Amino acid sequence: MQTVSLEHEINPWEAQAARFDFAAKKLNLNEGLWKMLRYPEREIIVHIPVMMDDGNIEVYTGFRVQHSVARGPGKGGVRYSPEVTLDEVRALASWMTWKCAVANIPFGGAKGGVVCDPKKMSLGELERMTRRYTSQLIEFIGPEKDVLAPDMNTNEQVMAWIMDTYSMHMRQTVTSVVTGKPLSIGGSRGRREATGRGLRIMCNQALRYLNMQRDGCRVIVQGFGNVGSHAARLLMEEGYRIVGIAEIDGALYNPNGIDVHALLEYRERNSTILGYKGAEAADTDELLLAECEILIPAATENVITSRNAERIQARILCEGSNGPTTAVADDILADKRVFVIPDILANAGGVIASYFEWVQDRQGYFWKEQVVNENMEAIMVESFDSVLRYAEAHGVHNRIAACMLAIDRVAFTIQQRGIYA
Ligand code: NAD
Repeated sequence: MQTVSLEHEINPWEAQAARFDFAAKKLNLNEGLWKMLRYPEREIIVHIPVMMDDGNIEVYTGFRVQHSVARGPGKGGVRYSPEVTLDEVRALASWMTWKCAVANIPFGGAKGGVVCDPKKMSLGELERMTRRYTSQLIEFIGPEKDVLAPDMNTNEQVMAWIMDTYSMHMRQTVTSVVTGKPLSIGGSRGRREATGRGLRIMCNQALRYLNMQRDGCRVIVQGFGNVGSHAARLLMEEGYRIVGIAEIDGALYNPNGIDVHALLEYRERNSTILGYKGAEAADTDELLLAECEILIPAATENVITSRNAERIQARILCEGSNGPTTAVADDILADKRVFVIPDILANAGGVIASYFEWVQDRQGYFWKEQVVNENMEAIMVESFDSVLRYAEAHGVHNRIAACMLAIDRVAFTIQQRGIYA
């Protein structure tokens, strides 16, 4: 891959496009399909007026990008952050297309975001912004068009507001317009910890594939939010040793293993992991480079770049977050023979459980948690095997194999449907 500046390296859209182009070339993808799939089908920009608590009107910019709806309705989260950009939302929407195709579930890919700082907004301001954002998207979303979900800084409450606003416009309750809702209004059992559970399944599969021992296998997790904390807890319960946990304001390290249950209780009481007595304080960035068998980034994008990839010591990189590794870093990790379980495979547990939530809402019949977990595990194991088979057959690393598998599936569907003109 050619040399690129760090600015280009960390642009999520360029990172996505670099992998897409490489995988499409390997697949010998028809040029027209290549052009169709390289760019999103639809990009919506809205300017959202919100009446603030002090009586002034503030206007926020929001996006919804639908990359592909060839295999089913768009599916993807909504993030609230001051750093949201259209390029980022585009990249995340494309990743959703590929992720749903790797898992072979009947969804396309979409993503949304609003440029705002939710930490500086009251609950009432957040609710009014969410409802107005939803109403401005009303004709573009819906159970058969585009299904929304939580992402960074959005949660079950935000999903409940979106569901309610959509339902008011439709004049009937439509629970399946969003996933990740509270259980009492059509959420699914098992959804909350599904991404972490999926990561555990992927780690188990990788160890089996690489013939490595599970007991005492050292794991470092970056990000102790929804994905990272559930992954750390579930892995510890299965015999893995969680030696490091990195958060945005500092990290913890204990070569003998961190008791994740105790740390969760500590965080509940203190709202931070810092100061926890069962581990030494460590530097967040340095912890990624410490000795371990498995590294799980579960925080944010671009944490493994050309600047630090060479110094990663993990044997397995299991990507909980979306886009944690840049395309340049991919090549460095491949040279070091790090076994990468790419984001569009590793963190698919969340969207698979969301698919089950959508199915249950439409059936009006809700499954036991065990049924959700077992069905999710079956899909994840099959997806892992399919990606590994692709990697072996085409002589490519796992990320490119996952992209190739996904592009192949989406392109096949488009060809079967034909081009409407
Ligand atoms: P979250 O907000 O619950 O947790 C993220 C955590 O990472 C927070 O505790 C935050 O303080 C920490 N963090 C942020 N920047 C950091 C940094 N530079 N170093 C260390 N820690 C940092 O979010 P989440 O739902 O756990 O999502 C995490 C990632 O996983 C995101 O990339 C998201 O898109 C992806 N993802 C989430 C799901 C899901 O089901 N929640 C599914 C698939 C992918």
